[in-house]
Amino acid sequence: MLNAYPPEENWDDHRALDAKAWPRRVERRFRLVPTTCFNCEANCGLLAYVDKDTGKIAKFEGNPVHPASRGRNCAKGPATLNQVEDPERILHPMKRVGDRGEGLWERITWDQALDEIGERIGRAFREDRRHEVMYHVGRMGDDSYMERVLHAWGIDGHNSHTNICSSGARVGFATWMGFDRPSPDFANARVIFLISSHLEAGHYFNPHAQRILEGKENGATIVCIDPRLSNTASQADHWFSAWPGTEAFLLLAIARLLIENDTWDRAFVERWVNWQTFLAETRPDLDPVFDNVGPALLDHYAEYTPAEAARVCGIDEDRIREVARVVGEGLGGFAGHTWRAASAGNEGGWQVSRCLWFVTVLTGSVGTEGGTNANGWNKFIPVTPIHPEPQGEWNDLTWPAEYPLTHHELSILLPHFLKSGRGKLDTYFTRVYNPLWTNPDGFTWLEVLADPEKVGCHVALTPTWNESAWYADYVLPMGVASERHDVGSFETHNGMWIGFRQPVLRRHGELEGGSFDRTHAANPGEVWEEQEFWIDLSWRIDPDGSLGIRRQFESRENPGTPLTLDEYYTMLFEGSVPGLPEAAEAEGLTPLEYMRRKGAFALPGDQYRVYERDVADADLVGTEKDAQGVYRRPGTAGSYDSLDEIKGHMPFIGDGSPAVDIAGEAKFGFPTPSKKLELFSETMRDWGWPEYTTPTFIRSHVHWEDLDIAAGERILVPTFRIPTLIHTRSANSEWLNEISHRHPLWVHPSDAEELGIEENGLVRITTRIGHFVIAAWRTEGIRPGVVAASHHMGRWRLDEDKARSWGAGKASVERESDGRWRLRREHGNQPYDSDEPDTGRIWWSDTGVHQNLTFPVQPDPVSGMHCWLQRVTVGPAQLGDAYGDVVVDTEASHAVFEEWLAKTRPGPGPDGLRRPLWFARPVKPKATAYQAD
Ligand code: SF4
Repeated sequence: MLNAYPPEENWDDHRALDAKAWPRRVERRFRLVPTTCFNCEANCGLLAYVDKDTGKIAKFEGNPVHPASRGRNCAKGPATLNQVEDPERILHPMKRVGDRGEGLWERITWDQALDEIGERIGRAFREDRRHEVMYHVGRMGDDSYMERVLHAWGIDGHNSHTNICSSGARVGFATWMGFDRPSPDFANARVIFLISSHLEAGHYFNPHAQRILEGKENGATIVCIDPRLSNTASQADHWFSAWPGTEAFLLLAIARLLIENDTWDRAFVERWVNWQTFLAETRPDLDPVFDNVGPALLDHYAEYTPAEAARVCGIDEDRIREVARVVGEGLGGFAGHTWRAASAGNEGGWQVSRCLWFVTVLTGSVGTEGGTNANGWNKFIPVTPIHPEPQGEWNDLTWPAEYPLTHHELSILLPHFLKSGRGKLDTYFTRVYNPLWTNPDGFTWLEVLADPEKVGCHVALTPTWNESAWYADYVLPMGVASERHDVGSFETHNGMWIGFRQPVLRRHGELEGGSFDRTHAANPGEVWEEQEFWIDLSWRIDPDGSLGIRRQFESRENPGTPLTLDEYYTMLFEGSVPGLPEAAEAEGLTPLEYMRRKGAFALPGDQYRVYERDVADADLVGTEKDAQGVYRRPGTAGSYDSLDEIKGHMPFIGDGSPAVDIAGEAKFGFPTPSKKLELFSETMRDWGWPEYTTPTFIRSHVHWEDLDIAAGERILVPTFRIPTLIHTRSANSEWLNEISHRHPLWVHPSDAEELGIEENGLVRITTRIGHFVIAAWRTEGIRPGVVAASHHMGRWRLDEDKARSWGAGKASVERESDGRWRLRREHGNQPYDSDEPDTGRIWWSDTGVHQNLTFPVQPDPVSGMHCWLQRVTVGPAQLGDAYGDVVVDTEASHAVFEEWLAKTRPGPGPDGLRRPLWFARPVKPKATAYQAD
């Protein structure tokens, strides 16, 4: 962390001595251009130091005026320079010339790529094959632009990575409060409660980590639940190494102790929780008065005693009581978070976040100083200035009837749906996404991506080569953090802000007097950015405007010409960011110039207890108060006679009700049907899951009592992150790979003894569909009965001299028989000659082992979240096994897909709907699209 920054007024002409010239004193002149990091979604501020003599970026440091990161970054921020300078990056548009997967390409122009892809998509639209165009995104980078594009195209073609990431946690939070994420106020907390390893590796690593440490310095107690001794656990006052999948049980035991000890916030629960519904539905024998809620909850959760929690979770009973006491002493100051980890690991994992929020509610910590806010009240998404009508379509390939309550698209099931004949794709975009490598069951993805009957044309929008791009028809290079425009905001602390990513060399060139028609003219090679690409592609899709698409991408200032990003962002920053025009004017700047100079803006105002805000009488005009006290407006999702009534844009979340009556006052409330926090979820009841209406524990598919320990079965945790690596893209970062290039299997010494595993010895891990071979690390930092390996490593390339990186080994992929695939590592990292001298100095060889190929799809039947944890058999490697071997049977994986599909309770739900109207949904369609056929 820097403790001094160049003053902002010098950013256009910063002078510093050249460290490399030492001991000579050589002064260099820099322009400091702000942008934001693209290596996780936290969107931390970066300052690019552009050398005024060379015109190149010399380094990236933190941006001190960024309200979330405050000048600090993790290692991945400055490593953006590696991505800019990577000798193996893709610099020009490429088109396949051999068979798919053969690795033969020719360089083409952007015009050729746009013409060919645009003509293809336009034909699909004109032939009413809109469902055959899909955009599948890994790292979004921008909060709203793509929704605008897909709405303009009129397709339900969005697909995401979210059901391998956070669908589980989202459903648990959303069923309580409408919002799908927590936003803890760590810095002011009294208790920081983390499920997984947020501090060093988890979500929003740097902005959260710095505030967690502030909270710790201010005296907060840190509690961490993780089967692994993570860096977070090492900083915790209480570390629970609970059995994976039992976290919800522990949370319910703590919740019960809070009530039993009478250390819960009764006033808050009485005011803001739908306890009347809870009593009416679960205890109709009791009078509907609040005094009955506590006893009813104690009865409802009678089995969740500390003793039983200690047994189920495999932890100490006294420690549970102690933590419940600490939580009870910190009412109003409970800052809790869970994101991937348990929620993303287990069948029923969505109940982990639902139970965590239960504790947040009982402690009266919702939206308080030092408590936990809702993400929607700390994250700012601007309304796009040109916003087309939502699509009237529903795509069953991504939103299948079996999963009406899933939070995001069932993306991992796409290849199985294509194999099952549910549809096909004409044009499939992958954008900063490597499905073959990142998803479970990657060989099924390979089979589908290699089959032109299933995927007619695959366009990979990627800054670097990856395993999936190898099977693409077009590979189009898109920029890294310093080469593109995006706006982004995340719930990093209590407050709202917006960050602006911009192409640094274009900005520098323009300030030096240059002008650029398109960003690829300023970026390295012909690297472009998506936002301009979508504008130009939309013009090629609809060249004469007859589809109504072109006008959404046409300049308002100069009709008949494409929209420019300067014009777009001028409109957005002038009209959609409260307080920004005034702040800019105070400095004599336009809002756009303010953002280009500073890179971020903190919106004015306090975001504590937003739900308590008064709603003005004028906003209640035309509403009717229902029996629950909710002000309903006819023709909205909460009150309609026919779906046709609900015009235009439904709210992204909630049902359009503006207020709820609380003690005679109209209050803002929460975006749930009751406008309150929903202890009892009528949505769960009405949509076929009556057993899950209240927070509960669901026995995981890897529950420890089901394991055959004597036969070598263990739980594999393949999900934890390493703070210095980025999913698949860090393979193209020199420094990050030099820091982190080991990929051991964590195994407890007692397990290792029992299983006959030596330190560094090869281990075969067998799943339901195959096996992989990895090397062991005997450590007491993992719970006995559990083994773990991080999810970052195991990158490969199929050609010795193409698609190299700092972290990909050379491998072969063979299909041995129908459905049986083998990946064999031929060698790891080696030094090689290139224009970058450091490639000749690579001294590490381990590139890790790929695990995900051996995991079948296991979508949770409610949330749709892929349940990452695996019940595996662990043993020493067998004759013929080699480090990095992966063997998989895709016929077996398809059978597992069908098995998990059978666990679902398909829609439609009430009123013949495909999904509750009030649930959030990316690229939300018109209400009429919700009507099942
Ligand atoms: S936490 Fe690290 S990787 Fe994420 S945005 Fe910040 S600097 Fe980049």
